[in-house]
Amino acid sequence: MWHNGAVTSETAGRLVSRTAFVTGAGSGIGRGIAEAFVREGARVAVADKSGEAARRVAAGLGVSAVAVELDVTDSGSVRRAIDGFTESAGGLDILVNNAGIAWDAALTEMSDAQWEAVLRVNLDGAFYCTRAALRHMVGQRRGRIVNMSSIVGTYGEPNQANYAASKGALVAFTKTVAKEVASRGITANAIAPGFIVTPLTDQMPVAVRKHIVELVPLGRAGLPEDIANAAVFLASDAAGYITGQVLHVNGGLLI
Ligand code: NAP
Repeated sequence: MWHNGAVTSETAGRLVSRTAFVTGAGSGIGRGIAEAFVREGARVAVADKSGEAARRVAAGLGVSAVAVELDVTDSGSVRRAIDGFTESAGGLDILVNNAGIAWDAALTEMSDAQWEAVLRVNLDGAFYCTRAALRHMVGQRRGRIVNMSSIVGTYGEPNQANYAASKGALVAFTKTVAKEVASRGITANAIAPGFIVTPLTDQMPVAVRKHIVELVPLGRAGLPEDIANAAVFLASDAAGYITGQVLHVNGGLLI
């Protein structure tokens, strides 16, 4: 039954008995993905820099979710967290590299700290998590990596050179991971969201948000559920022959 993207009885349970590690899951899109994964039957690690946010989200999801306080820029902590979850869950099927930040400035005004902070979280963090996850997935000979890129990684955006560079690099990273581990039964894909209503975009001026929505052919801003639906698909058996791809979810903004 078609039901506007919502989970229906016909589509429920697409991730039954899977285990998933989702970064940045204390808020926004990551939270939406963690919720959708649990609805689909997965056991989920809700990982976030804010332990309080991770615990709040995990508590709302019941016994299928566990909170993990994790800064993805700390490679030692990443390894310990992913090893620990994998051991307790009995394997690791899905990694979603969703944690991300923006820190905008005109290029000539952008500080070294601004550049480095965004690349550290958005790109280095994805590398640390993917490396730690693949060490398990390669042995299992199965796994799904889903990286959160952005429309900006394809299009570019003024005042977001750091963010755009990190999101474009994630696409190249995704394709390379896909080629490198395909023979082990592991897929790697990226999602490139357009404009999605989350605490990240809530910081933008109202007039800017209104203008962007006016440019969206489908006539509305995206919701975390719109991205979560794509993540469930890429993590599910239905996407088993899809790897190294970028799934654009933007209401037509990129047409
Ligand atoms: P969000 O609501 O700000 O959520 C991002 C989460 O990541 C927050 O809980 C944040 O924790 C966490 N985080 C930040 N730095 C981290 C770190 N070092 N280690 C672990 N967790 C960290 O943002 P969102 O809009 O849901 O964005 C999620 C992803 O989608 C990001 O990669 C973003 O670039 C991408 N994206 C978003 C949009 C959009 O329109 N919203 C569009 C394209 C792409 P704190 O709050 O504690 O910092």
